[in-house]
Amino acid sequence: MDVDSAKKRCSFCGEPGRADLPLVGGLGAFMCGTCVDYYGEVVAAFRQSGRDNGSPWEEMSDPEVLGKLSMIVRTGAQVDQFLLEWVQLARSRTLSWAEIGRALGISRQAAWERFARDMPDLEDPHTRTDAG
Ligand SMILES: [Zn+2]
Repeated sequence: MDVDSAKKRCSFCGEPGRADLPLVGGLGAFMCGTCVDYYGEVVAAFRQSGRDNGSPWEEMSDPEVLGKLSMIVRTGAQVDQFLLEWVQLARSRTLSWAEIGRALGISRQAAWERFARDMPDLEDPHTRTDAG
């Protein structure tokens, strides 16, 4: 599992992680220290007032909205990579494609077709004799 912040981006502002700007997160979403501070203040303000401060996109310009699109695509790719790393972890623990598929709500074959080409062990479940 790759935990190197330098290879990831903040899922909230898009800032790339660096050695001096580590990211925190989980489930494929990461947050830089600047966003942790900002959203900490947002949550504190909500707790104090009992209401949130609305939808920030309503005050964005069209270029700002368009600028978010590529960031959303990058975040999606980061989440996909995170899922792949966790499937690799599951496979390294010898969990079967059937178990992985069941956890994802898809068939064993669908799980294998989606992830096996990116796995170190590229065995086709159709050629295996065990229950893999
Ligand atoms: Zn950020």
